[in-house]
Amino acid sequence: MRYGPNLLEEILRRTDIVQLVGRKVKLTRRGQAFWGCCPFHKEKSASFKVENGRRTFKCFGCGKGGDAFRWLMETEGLNFPEAVEKLAGEAGVELPKWTPEDEAREEKKKSLYDVIEAAAAFFEAQLLLAVGTPARDYLKSRGLGEPDAKRFRLGFAPASGNALMAHLTAKNVTQDDMIAAGLVRPADEERGVRDFFYNRLIFPITDARGRVVAFGGRGLTADAKPKYINSGETEFFSKGRQLYNFANARPAGLKAQTIIVAEGYMDVIALVRAGFEAAVAPLGTALTEDQLHLVWRVAPEPVMAFDGDEAGLKAAHRAARLALPNLKPGHSLRFAFLPSGEDPDSLIRAQGAPAMQKVLDAAAPLAEVLWRGETVDRDFSTPERRAGLEKALSEIVSLIADGKIADYYRRDFENRVFEAFKRRTRGPARAPGRQGRFAPQADPVSAAVKNSLIARSGGARKVKETELCRLILEEPELASRYAELLAELHFSDPLLDRLRQELLNVAASGFRLENKGLENHLLRQGMADVVERLRAPGARSEVVQESAFGEDADARFLRAAAQLRDMSELDPERRRAMERFKAEGTEESWQEAQRLLARRSRE
Ligand code: ZN
Repeated sequence: MRYGPNLLEEILRRTDIVQLVGRKVKLTRRGQAFWGCCPFHKEKSASFKVENGRRTFKCFGCGKGGDAFRWLMETEGLNFPEAVEKLAGEAGVELPKWTPEDEAREEKKKSLYDVIEAAAAFFEAQLLLAVGTPARDYLKSRGLGEPDAKRFRLGFAPASGNALMAHLTAKNVTQDDMIAAGLVRPADEERGVRDFFYNRLIFPITDARGRVVAFGGRGLTADAKPKYINSGETEFFSKGRQLYNFANARPAGLKAQTIIVAEGYMDVIALVRAGFEAAVAPLGTALTEDQLHLVWRVAPEPVMAFDGDEAGLKAAHRAARLALPNLKPGHSLRFAFLPSGEDPDSLIRAQGAPAMQKVLDAAAPLAEVLWRGETVDRDFSTPERRAGLEKALSEIVSLIADGKIADYYRRDFENRVFEAFKRRTRGPARAPGRQGRFAPQADPVSAAVKNSLIARSGGARKVKETELCRLILEEPELASRYAELLAELHFSDPLLDRLRQELLNVAASGFRLENKGLENHLLRQGMADVVERLRAPGARSEVVQESAFGEDADARFLRAAAQLRDMSELDPERRRAMERFKAEGTEESWQEAQRLLARRSRE
């Protein structure tokens, strides 16, 4: 590779993508993101989103998206090295062509690495002194002795609050450098300059090359809050982009073609001690997309190890959903759940490495975890509930960006639905000649699946239509912001479609839209029924549920509109197949309708 990943990351980190895209596209700020009209396809209302937080652009209309390099390649026809060179120049990142100033800057940075390394050595030494007794006692309580401390370079930050500062000052390190290295907190209104860590057990965090760039600190008193802290973000350290123990885990993981993502530092240490050397953990936050890409560079199917309790399950589902938009052929995740109440550390201490190996061997594939998340402890005794399940599953599939993989998941989920409901209704009354395959219409299974299939093409549309209308009632400005988009959609529900047209009328009139005013206007137009329906509790929960993804109203609106458009674009062949299936309800027509529905509309 011509440029190291660190260099590319550095360039992206220093590039203001909003400003970069803003040179070609007029962008308007809404919340955290900026929106504009997509330059890759024709549109008059803004469905093109740029975010500095994620350092990406994304069009909800045509699907184009990527990072700043991708942007230059798409808009200026540059190849990758050219895009890198151009952005590096603008971002002030020097590519490996050294000038005296570069040498000086690099020297400076190198000296900061040395400062952090000196701090690591200081913490290590403190652990072995009398002051380090509380930290050593804690380690002992977790079964760790001096050789372990040495191996993982564990340390102790004394309670005084300025011990490190005094130590580094004596080595002629300036306060500015200590602050730049993230070791010392600058003075604020309440207190003067002071050590970042005090009275904490110290875990050094290294970069991919194995240089110490930051520290994690565990409080040693019951009242230490929070229990764990990390160094602040610095030029070298970003907690969302690095992983604990990555430098050591990478070679082992590449060799074994697997890597374990545990929840915390102590879990990683326990795993490594037990012989699972390819183990990493995020740095005090839930796994991020950047970290996901990092572990994918090591192994195609990293194993996420979660505690078997409810919090662990929740974290697993969060990670599963995070992975969906990023899945590529050959890239997935597996999930290992520890027995309830255990983490890798406690399990290995109690039962040894073989017990952990067993847990890892039983790791479930991503599709299985997503399926369990929607089905475990749920009751699907009515067709409506089964239809609800199918809807939830198809929403999961809609989060997968890669078309091939989305198709695979759709089929996988359909098989699971089929198998699950076949099993539930299998009974002695069944005719012996009909085992296995799909039963005809009179069978309750067939009715359920049929209902859900119809729901997916009809009921699911109505859900999306309702959601769009509700979002607009909540935030009427959406109707004028996306009038063009709204005009292109056709609602299958006649009442909702009338509302849609009325909203377009109001938007076209140029009045400033406000909730109360809009509602009064709709009531005057004789649309009290539909307004009431949209205000009903069911419709409300639908919208609230969506917002659990943490998206703002615009993103939710655009997502729902895109999904609705997808659903509306049934071609005549698919429509006829659906009609035939509705009329006949035979296995053959079901298969055909399934096959055609599964065909994803790709533009
Ligand atoms: Zn576009």
